[in-house]
Amino acid sequence: LSGPYGYAGRLLRVDLTRGKITVEPSAPYVSEYLGARGLAQRLLFDEVDATVRPFDEGNKVILSAGPLVGTVLPASGRLSVDDKNPITGGVGSSNAGGHLAPELKFAGFDAVVIEGQSPRPVVLYIADGRAEIRHAEHLWGLGTGQTEAALRLELREPRLRVGSIGPAGENRVVGACLIVDGARAAGRSGAGAVLGSKRVKAIAVRGTLPIQIFDPRGLLAAARDCWSRLERSPQLRALCEAGTHGSYAIGTEGGFKRRSVRNLQDAYWPADKYNQIREEQLRKYKIRRLGCFNCPIYCSFLYRLPEVIWGMGITEGVPANAVRAFGENLDVTSPESVLSTYALANQLGMDVDMSTTLVAWAVELAENGLLSAKEVEELGLHWGSPHAGLRLLPLIAHRQGLGALFADGIQEGIRCLGEASARHVVHTKGASFNEAAVRTNKGYALGIVVSVRGGGHLDGAPNVEFRGIAPEISKALFGVPTGGDPTTYEGKGQVVFGTEQRKAVVDMMGMCYMTSEWLDHDLLSPDDYAELLHLTTGIKRTGSELMALGRRLHNVEKAFNTLHAGFSRQDDMPPDRLVDLAISAGPWQGEALSREGWDRMLTEYYRVQGWDAKTGWQTAETLHALGLDDVAENLRQCGRLAPARTPPVSGAA
Ligand code: SF4
Repeated sequence: LSGPYGYAGRLLRVDLTRGKITVEPSAPYVSEYLGARGLAQRLLFDEVDATVRPFDEGNKVILSAGPLVGTVLPASGRLSVDDKNPITGGVGSSNAGGHLAPELKFAGFDAVVIEGQSPRPVVLYIADGRAEIRHAEHLWGLGTGQTEAALRLELREPRLRVGSIGPAGENRVVGACLIVDGARAAGRSGAGAVLGSKRVKAIAVRGTLPIQIFDPRGLLAAARDCWSRLERSPQLRALCEAGTHGSYAIGTEGGFKRRSVRNLQDAYWPADKYNQIREEQLRKYKIRRLGCFNCPIYCSFLYRLPEVIWGMGITEGVPANAVRAFGENLDVTSPESVLSTYALANQLGMDVDMSTTLVAWAVELAENGLLSAKEVEELGLHWGSPHAGLRLLPLIAHRQGLGALFADGIQEGIRCLGEASARHVVHTKGASFNEAAVRTNKGYALGIVVSVRGGGHLDGAPNVEFRGIAPEISKALFGVPTGGDPTTYEGKGQVVFGTEQRKAVVDMMGMCYMTSEWLDHDLLSPDDYAELLHLTTGIKRTGSELMALGRRLHNVEKAFNTLHAGFSRQDDMPPDRLVDLAISAGPWQGEALSREGWDRMLTEYYRVQGWDAKTGWQTAETLHALGLDDVAENLRQCGRLAPARTPPVSGAA
């Protein structure tokens, strides 16, 4: 069963319409797309036609693990979950931690491609080279934690690893996600909703097969070196101590001073509010620390919940983005509310960022008299309400009452709620976001807004602006000296371009982004990944070659967006409130995005990409230089290949 070194060598294809399971070699995707997000996105580009809608049976959900997954390397357990995204109509790509990805490799597969539609609820059970489709009517309607527990009992396998959907996915709520290991969300790709449309309640995996390593001794020595580099990193030490939530507040009196406040109306939240939900306030609920597969950082914790949520008295968490989402973005200062709303979103299988945006949208609509007084009172729709999320999210997940209007995403919500509602929701490409620092950190904002999957800081948003790196380090990393200066627009196109490629490399490998130089420039670089890839698989690539593969992958995703969703330059513009509403107080008072600065920065970004500055579309020259002539031909046929106005940029950053 063992494949080439590092890889399981096999890809599992499950056709739910025909109830057919086949196995194929994963090798055709390895040389140019390496694995995980690379393999999955290229496969989606090749096999999902632009006419296929997200909930059609022609859409596919791909769960995949990279070549480094399941090895002795630290934090080598990331799972890529990819699909055509019902949130945006374009690229869907998520990355979840936990233990499901290594378990998939140990079960003998690099990826599982789920296609077609089952007539009834099913669970996909994969174990040691075999797979079966099992009936799951009895699990339909359960929360994700309940599903996981029930499957362990049913399959008599306490070490089973499970990714499951909750009621939100079953009801095709577009922001629904796949929840792995009870609380690790593959969010922002709507994969939970697409799985719901296929009636897949869960993917349950158990594996005990070995992974063959090209140079076992060399990899062990490299792993030891990685572990000691992780230990030396001050950023990782902080993460280890207090999780993402606590580490981002360290050294700041009122916590991280640029926040996402009241639906991104502001970025200033007074210290007396933040101090009520800072990490120390949640400690009394902490039971113990938790981590993903083979990770020494353990950036997560097990919490006792203030009240039982969907049969669960505990939850894993609570990451910084969840505190931002259910705390400051809703003006909520109750740690109990933050914990409970987060646990509820996980049990319902709802994306945290989408959830907070929908609740904040409802609160803004209420504030502006666009909802009935009865709805506002019943749901507690006002800023600071500890109940608003807890009451509205189940209605959205079950498409009941007011919740039904929010269940089909932002564009459909605007259609139902009326045009006047549009100015009260923050999104890019139809995907909501509630990121902090998007007024002050210009490159960070650019990385979030141009992200192919729509929003989110985990694509091309540079973290270096927060760290204020020295100009010479910025020059070495990105070729421009300005990476560490948050407020300048200059050079940020180049910085985002380089960050996107680095993230693509990490994702294709299957390691956690936290161990890369995104978090700390002394951590793993593309050269390091090239060395680890060689020791694991025998494949020889330089760091620059990996970056070029990252650039190629990003261009495949960009083309998918252009073909499927028709995105262009106007979809890379920031939401109005980031320009029109400046920060109200604090050290960053008065800071906002400028339209003129953004235009300049975006044009520079397109220029370094080798894309057309007027339309934002790709050019034949750039795609040819990247070995993507077939992609260019696709774009040409649908009239979305730009004429060569912009000189192509050869090589990677
Ligand atoms: S750093 Fe945190 S998220 Fe990343 S692998 Fe380790 S425990 Fe998981």
